[in-house]
Amino acid sequence: MSATTERYCRACGETVAPGAEVCSACGVATDAVEVGDGPVYCRDCGEGIRAAAEICPHCGVRQRPRPRAGTLGDASTDDLETVTDDLERFVRENRGLVAAVASFLFPGLGQLLNGEVVKAVVVFTAFVLATFSVVVGVGLIATPIVYVYAIYDAYRTGRYLEPR
Ligand SMILES: [Zn+2]
Ligand SMILES: [Zn+2]
Repeated sequence: MSATTERYCRACGETVAPGAEVCSACGVATDAVEVGDGPVYCRDCGEGIRAAAEICPHCGVRQRPRPRAGTLGDASTDDLETVTDDLERFVRENRGLVAAVASFLFPGLGQLLNGEVVKAVVVFTAFVLATFSVVVGVGLIATPIVYVYAIYDAYRTGRYLEPR
């Protein structure tokens, strides 16, 4: 990065002289991350961005340090976003487990989560039929079989879909 690269104040969006430690327009430190509740600006392109944005949507330059585990206790919306991100990542990396739990709660739902719509319908229909057949005795065996299959199959397919 050259010293002549234009930099912008995160707090007011004015250009900042290279090497300056505070903005000459508003007095905010040029490396400050938290600059109040107002709008913030990208340091590298000067566009207005969300205060919580980690990466500028206009130029792609990182604005905030990557949030790290262990920074709990600062109950800001950033942490909420981090939690949501973590949750999404967990779901993505544990599709087998998530799908199994889904089919445990509702036979066929795990298949649906795995994108197997037809199988989801078949599993659910089989489960309903098996449940009804309890009155003639067959369902006492068929229902748990369908139920366990729904969970096992959701788990196996979900595992297969996990990133590796
Ligand atoms: Zn400023
Ligand atoms: Zn930018």
